[in-house]
Amino acid sequence: MSEAITYWAVVPAAGVGKRMQAGRPKQYLQLAGSSVLQRTLTRLLQADVFQGIAVAVSRADPYWPELAVSGNPLVITAEGGRERADSVLNALQALHGQASDNDWVLVHDAARPCLTISDIHLLIATLRDDPVGGILALPSPDTLKHVEEDGRITASIDRSRVWRALTPQMFRYGMLRAALQSAAAGEQRDAVTDEASALEMQGLQPKIVEGRSDNIKITRPEDLALANFYLEQQC
Ligand code: C5P
Repeated sequence: MSEAITYWAVVPAAGVGKRMQAGRPKQYLQLAGSSVLQRTLTRLLQADVFQGIAVAVSRADPYWPELAVSGNPLVITAEGGRERADSVLNALQALHGQASDNDWVLVHDAARPCLTISDIHLLIATLRDDPVGGILALPSPDTLKHVEEDGRITASIDRSRVWRALTPQMFRYGMLRAALQSAAAGEQRDAVTDEASALEMQGLQPKIVEGRSDNIKITRPEDLALANFYLEQQC
């Protein structure tokens, strides 16, 4: 009999959300009668595939203990780091001893509350036998330009070859941890803005899985109204 595959989720939720210009980090803003982070974690729990969900939050975060979901037995609290990649690494570290190198980890931004359960299942179904792993992504509907610092266009980019990276991003526990540790020790650490980029630095080629366009990341104030609209549509 083949061994059962184990899946874990990691949620970096230690950002301050400067671009939101709100009184509290964006993951704790109100969204459809709940909070952004509560909604994100509820979706992950509803997918009913994860052995545990490690959430990285800031050390002195006063909002996290107030969230109902923080007391869920499947939720493991880890300490956030300076950059997103440091938070993810800390959360992976919190799974040490429970997760095996071959287990799959799905890393998902706290600020993406509209992720659908169908997209989680699609990502897993597409990648479960993949040697590297991959990410949900979207093709670009707009023409893309390369721009110099002076604000002048120097080239148009072939948009058929450019995809927008979303989350979840799905990789093996051991491979992801090693790639993030190696990136953190290297000179290119600032270039690691998602998990795939750490794997790319190892010469690996993560796979693209086309996701839904309503899986937005809440970044600017107007995104909350849009997320609200998408959540209503998804009901
Ligand atoms: O700032 P941005 O929207 O790119 O952040 C993406 C995700 O990474 C958010 O969920 C945010 O809370 C998280 N993050 C983190 N630790 C940091 C910075 C960002 O967990 N130091």
